[in-house]
Amino acid sequence: MPDAATNRPALPAEIARRRTFAIISHPDAGKTTLTEKFLLFGGAIQMAGQVRAKGEARRTRSDFMQMEKDRGISVSASAMSFDFGKFRFNLVDTPGHSDFSEDTYRTLTAVDAAIMVIDGAKGVESQTRKLFEVCRLRDLPILTFCNKMDRESRDTFEIIDEIQENLAIDVTPASWPIGTGREFLGCYDMLRDRLELMDRADRNRVAESISIDGLDDPKMAEHIPADLLAQLREEVEMARELLPPLDLQAVHDGTLTPIWFGSAINSFGVKELMDGIGAYGPEPQVQAAEPRQIAPEEDKVAGFVFKVQANMDPKHRDRVAFLRMASGHFKRGMKLTHVRTKKPMAVSNPVLFLASDRELAEEAWAGDIIGIPNHGQLRIGDTLTEGEALRVSGIPSFAPELLQNCRAGDPMKAKHLEKALMQFAEEGAAKVFKPVLASGFVVGVVGQLQFEVLASRIEMEYGLPVRFEPTQFTSARWVHGAREAVEKFAAANKSHMAEDNDGDMVYLTRLQWDIDRVARDYPDVTLSNTKEMM
Ligand code: GDP
Repeated sequence: MPDAATNRPALPAEIARRRTFAIISHPDAGKTTLTEKFLLFGGAIQMAGQVRAKGEARRTRSDFMQMEKDRGISVSASAMSFDFGKFRFNLVDTPGHSDFSEDTYRTLTAVDAAIMVIDGAKGVESQTRKLFEVCRLRDLPILTFCNKMDRESRDTFEIIDEIQENLAIDVTPASWPIGTGREFLGCYDMLRDRLELMDRADRNRVAESISIDGLDDPKMAEHIPADLLAQLREEVEMARELLPPLDLQAVHDGTLTPIWFGSAINSFGVKELMDGIGAYGPEPQVQAAEPRQIAPEEDKVAGFVFKVQANMDPKHRDRVAFLRMASGHFKRGMKLTHVRTKKPMAVSNPVLFLASDRELAEEAWAGDIIGIPNHGQLRIGDTLTEGEALRVSGIPSFAPELLQNCRAGDPMKAKHLEKALMQFAEEGAAKVFKPVLASGFVVGVVGQLQFEVLASRIEMEYGLPVRFEPTQFTSARWVHGAREAVEKFAAANKSHMAEDNDGDMVYLTRLQWDIDRVARDYPDVTLSNTKEMM
């Protein structure tokens, strides 16, 4: 039966139960804690704290790099799968630091929804806003979790107003907090008329849930002191009057976000949020592609690479390409076509990222994320299909904002350096430009911290000390146009020209004036600060 609203066939049950999402938040709002509780309730770990547990042998998915350990930041996106009720959740971890926004952007192309975590005392913070804007570019549905309600937090209406005004999205309360700080008792479940009471004694325990027959149910008074109860009734009544009701279509359009209140560390409100992801976080969506879009229910398998990670296991020089399945039912050993090179590729050892371990994936459905170990054939933006020449679109590469020269500490090791840099370029960790005239490499990144990460990784993974030094260039622009026009332009501007790791021509400059001059003098080429990864 086609769905009345979308006129598309109903999804196979295995696809319909998939929820693929990411968490966006400002550092410290509680993303790690919430992730841990998701895994706990998803049965993927036995005890909270395991995600952080560090040890030589026990490196966890979202924490396998020295830099991450040292700085306490999450540098690399990873994916985790777990079941919750009838749902299969695929949680894609986004790097939290603002220096890694490009990586984050690409990660968000692989999910169908985002969970926005905010701190109840701090409200919408800068990084939340930035990430939210990225979600908005794709009209991604957003579910909101207001965390740390066990601490003194802001007035509930104030928090909701701030989200509405700051982010220009409507908010509908899925739950309503009762009391705040030390007085915080729990929440009134506005969607199911239940009282959820927080157990402060046991942080791994799920809240007690009491079924209530509306706000006037006398049972309420048994659990809530009179003053808080009066306040709750008044606030909920006001909220129902002033705030929009839950409208599934609006949530899916990204114009309305349901908000849950809770305390991740106390496991409170987390299950309700997970129920919400099941109920409202949309099933796998249609994927933009050329020359036609890809629908999840299609029989044939298609997927795209949104992330490449090198050396996940430092003992091996492997790379893992993270593939978001856009359609079909994948089975291990399948031969797929690597559309960019038109070559067949037998996917014999795909990895599924279960929270506790990497496991061989026997099968995967549209919506899932699998890892494909490879030796560098797979790049970000690549599409794999069962033969059709489809290319997933909308995965951009951004011009870097900071450029530096990169040199090997030992000049004899220049070839090694080239190999290391190319690998990081393909992984998407940096842009690498090889100047046409000068020797060496110009490396471009979005944030200063990435230079440090790179230097540390090149040293750790390749045993190669490197130096980053200032360059005369501050901007890089891809040169687009007909081949002859680009070649003519390149010949006339040799000292500015470089090739990126795909061999595409890049114009390096220090001055906006140069860029304007090119626009004037060379009408048949364009300088662009993005390149579609295809
Ligand atoms: P992330 O940076 O967003 O991943 O945040 P974390 O999950 O690491 O949390 C940051 C800090 O807030 C940690 O010290 C947590 O223990 C603490 N925290 C997380 N959730 C809660 C909560 O519900 N209540 C309180 N009081 N603290 C919390």
